[in-house]
Amino acid sequence: MSEFYISAIPTDVNWQPTTDTADAAEAYVRRIFPDPDGTLQEVEVEFHDRIRVVHPGESLERITCPRCSGDIPLDWFQDLVEEAEEEFDSLDVTVPCCSALVPLDTLHYDWPCGFARFEIGIRDACRPEYEFTDEELAELAGILGHPVRQILAHF
Ligand SMILES: [Zn+2]
Repeated sequence: MSEFYISAIPTDVNWQPTTDTADAAEAYVRRIFPDPDGTLQEVEVEFHDRIRVVHPGESLERITCPRCSGDIPLDWFQDLVEEAEEEFDSLDVTVPCCSALVPLDTLHYDWPCGFARFEIGIRDACRPEYEFTDEELAELAGILGHPVRQILAHF
């Protein structure tokens, strides 16, 4: 069974809101993603001590290098993430294509992959347009006081 997950994350990988601000952001997300039954979807707010990979799941098909534009094998990335147990203190890695030292969040991911220490996620959103609109992301950024972007995942 496949599962859809949508995450809103700060654009700065290290940024975290206060708990009050996170509560306000969660209330907003629950308002724009209504769940009539209260049982069909899950809204999850998470603070991570270290930088967490926000993985797009099966939608990740290709990774390329920002330095040499070469392809980076998906297996290399999956192994790296698995070995790190999805958490990093530093995103700097030596890429296999050209041996450059580059931060993981600067690689080109198709679909987009995120890195964050704060996350608001919606699992199996009830509403049909399950992505955040640009206006909603702007509103959420206003509540948090920091720009956010969304990562769509399919498992
Ligand atoms: Zn390269």
